[in-house]
Amino acid sequence: MVSAVDLQGCPPGTQPEIAIVGRSNAGKSSLINGIAGSRIAMISATPGKTRMLNFYSAPRYRLVDMPGYGFAARSGDEQVSWQEMIEPYLAARENLAGLIIVMDIRRDWSTDEENLIRWISPRALPVVVALTKADKMSRGEAMNKARAIQRVSGVEHVLITSSINKTGFKELEEIAFHKFIKNLEESPTDETGDET
Ligand code: GDP
Repeated sequence: MVSAVDLQGCPPGTQPEIAIVGRSNAGKSSLINGIAGSRIAMISATPGKTRMLNFYSAPRYRLVDMPGYGFAARSGDEQVSWQEMIEPYLAARENLAGLIIVMDIRRDWSTDEENLIRWISPRALPVVVALTKADKMSRGEAMNKARAIQRVSGVEHVLITSSINKTGFKELEEIAFHKFIKNLEESPTDETGDET
């Protein structure tokens, strides 16, 4: 749809947006492609390549691909994009409906994810964790990992996905739609008092 380098460059907030956040190389672009069912997002060979907020339009909402976030070994460039684009977007974007935190299933929940959740908590937005690259382990291992992350993060919905096997995207979209978009649509903006 459009790419932006700052809040001013974002499209008009006429549709709910779901932000996709995660480390560089976590599988964000592949996940967006999986949800969309086509190759719309650019899959980067180089970590940290995405430096803009990329908006993808779905019929009733938008997905917003964020530059890879955070972390102790964060490069100067990533730090700047985080502070100048991501924080203002997450803090102030009114039509932001929720967050999908994307994690490579082989990684553990870290202080970076924890800090993100804490930082965003004043907005009380729904959060879903999408574990990617589940094809790298057995189904049983993947389920154990999802449960462990659910326990340590306190996030109710931790979903297992694989862009190789094309699994988990339907569930992810379903949860994102129900938890994020419906929530937003049901919060009354122009109450008339009519029952019908
Ligand atoms: P991003 O930087 O977070 O947008 O990550 P990308 O979507 O560009 O993916 C980073 C790398 O991981 C690429 O080489 C992808 O092909 C690979 N990748 C992404 N998702 C999966 C997956 O589900 N399974 C496997 N095996 N590899 C994946």
